[in-house]
Amino acid sequence: MASESCIFCKIVRGEAPAAMVFEDEHTLAFMDIFPVTDGHTLVVTREHAENVFEASREVLEAVAATAKRVAHALRDTLAPEGLMVFQLNGAAAGQTVFHYHMHLMPRAAGEPLLLHTRVPGDPQRLASLAETLARHVAR
Ligand code: 5GP
Ligand code: ZN
Repeated sequence: MASESCIFCKIVRGEAPAAMVFEDEHTLAFMDIFPVTDGHTLVVTREHAENVFEASREVLEAVAATAKRVAHALRDTLAPEGLMVFQLNGAAAGQTVFHYHMHLMPRAAGEPLLLHTRVPGDPQRLASLAETLARHVAR
């Protein structure tokens, strides 16, 4: 059930902005507004489901397919040394937005293993990354 106040539902409805990379029937991919590393991207379900337990298997399969596309686009464009793909369920696990999403986070060797930051990304950088990734994802 979509939530009026849910920030990701607002992005899905087009009521809040996002640097969009990809959209299909079940998923959207857009840049994380507080990127831990350059290229930090989220894959979000179109339907509101709070976590892995609430989301349907069909939707989670679609998330995996979109994550795979975005992973290749990140590798093609940024060539990171590593790519962290993760997803948090429940406040105790560190979840802060209670609408299912997967993180794709390019990583370099030796960087601290951070899950979050409070530093907003440069909007121009997020927009240009989204544009570049969108072109590669569409290939
Ligand atoms: P969680 O901790 O729930 O796994 O991750 C939530 C993520 O959503 C965080 O990385 C946070 O930076 C990101 N985020 C929070 N609000 C917004 C927003 O309004 N737009 C975008 N693009 N990302 C957001
Ligand atoms: Zn939602």
